[in-house]
Amino acid sequence: MLFGIVEQHFKEDKAVVRVRSRGASLEMSGAGRSGPRVTAAMTPAQRRALAAIEAELSRAARYDDESIVHHRWLMQRYDSGRYATLGGARRATVATAWHEAGHAVAALAVGAGFRSASIRPGRDTEGRVHGIQGTGDLAFVVDAAGQIAERLRAWTLLDDAALREWLPTWRDDGGDARRFRANIGRRFGTDEFGAYRYSESLLAPRRLTIRQVARALLVHPRHIPHAVVAAIAAGC
Ligand SMILES: [Zn+2]
Repeated sequence: MLFGIVEQHFKEDKAVVRVRSRGASLEMSGAGRSGPRVTAAMTPAQRRALAAIEAELSRAARYDDESIVHHRWLMQRYDSGRYATLGGARRATVATAWHEAGHAVAALAVGAGFRSASIRPGRDTEGRVHGIQGTGDLAFVVDAAGQIAERLRAWTLLDDAALREWLPTWRDDGGDARRFRANIGRRFGTDEFGAYRYSESLLAPRRLTIRQVARALLVHPRHIPHAVVAAIAAGC
């Protein structure tokens, strides 16, 4: 039953990918499906974490992202005083989860490794994918993935004119913008527009994977190790 629902959502998502891709002149590549599930490399603790996350996600299947934010993530933000309302803190937590899930799924997509992912707010960051390594000349895809994932969440991908207008204004973002510009050279020279669209074309077909990893980050009140993220992504 659950599988049927997931499958139905996947089909709906693919339909939207096709519609949107025409609107934004995107070239979709890859089916967006990950390979077979591999759990052998996990430690017993990681297997327990995966089982707990999957049970929680299964229980939460009918609830939207804002309804499943773990109390710990919510109160860390609300207690910081940066949000006037619990609702504001809740929405910020969800946006961060999609952002970090984007980085994590992009790293998996380009064959890079990382230690763990989390939406624990730090002094300068809202969350982090720790220890990303081995991105090669596709590091810029991982850099752009936070922004792209936040837009994929509501299907608000920018059309050509809007993207050309927005790109020069993209600054800071926890260092993402600076790293993106520093890393596009080998493949795209100074063509930020081309590099961003290329990154979108890799990530849009993986929207449901990003969503599932984002929801895992929301329900699990700790860092999620790379092997567990990979298993969640492979299950999509
Ligand atoms: Zn980021």
